Amino acid sequence: MNTKNGFSAEDIFSQPQPPLLLVISAPSGAGKSTICRQLLKNNPDLVFSVSTTTRPPRAHEEEGVDYHFVDEGKFEAMIESDEFLEWARVHDEYYGTSRSAVLNELERDNDVMLDIDVQGGDQIRKLYPAAVMIFIVPPNMEELERRLRARATESEEEIERRLTNARDELQAIHNYDYVVVNDTVDDAVAEIESIRCAEKLRLHRIKKGLPEL
Ligand code: ADP
Ligand code: 5GP
Repeated sequence: MNTKNGFSAEDIFSQPQPPLLLVISAPSGAGKSTICRQLLKNNPDLVFSVSTTTRPPRAHEEEGVDYHFVDEGKFEAMIESDEFLEWARVHDEYYGTSRSAVLNELERDNDVMLDIDVQGGDQIRKLYPAAVMIFIVPPNMEELERRLRARATESEEEIERRLTNARDELQAIHNYDYVVVNDTVDDAVAEIESIRCAEKLRLHRIKKGLPEL
């Protein structure tokens, strides 16, 4: 029987916890991929959404693990056939999130993590307002530049493009629920794990069923 405010004991104790969609964004070089890799290592129950991109693979990157690498023609055909939950042009390349992969994992009750740019974050927030939006920032702009150069995966021109874009990307911070400063990787990872844990306990999530995407 329902109580005065609309909850019965059965409601409270029998509700399944819906899975979380975690959106992680950051200016390029802030350390997002490093943090996501560590999060996946620490939390084998967390599923990474492997994006599709037209960007060429970096030396250490693996097809199907870091990205699905395709050419522009293939990406545009995938846009046409509505295969993306969101997609965007970032640093002059295409990047997109597979609709079916994300939906399948959420339907299996798995928490899914998206490593996407701020344009993608904006699309996901509109499509699914219950997404948990996390923005990672470097300690300062000098450190961002130092990290981009130390990674040594882009040309000078590409580094300059990413640094210019970083200033615009920072303006999107207002779209996010949480800000994590990547000073040390371990601290940043621990903070994101705390966010995930707290979000799973929020009452409004316990009341809701599966997201409709
Ligand atoms: P993003 O995915 O945001 O573009 P990466 O994860 O590739 O960034 O990190 C950029 C560079 O900075 C890499 O060389 C990485 O090893 C380094 N890095 C990441 N986090 C830290 C940190 N907390 N302190 C120092 N260097 C870091
Ligand atoms: P990188 O080339 O450094 O791997 O990624 C460049 C930017 O593209 C990063 O901000 C990254 O988060 C973003 N990105 C990666 N995958 C996707 C995606 O599927 N969709 C969108 N919108 N951005 C993505």
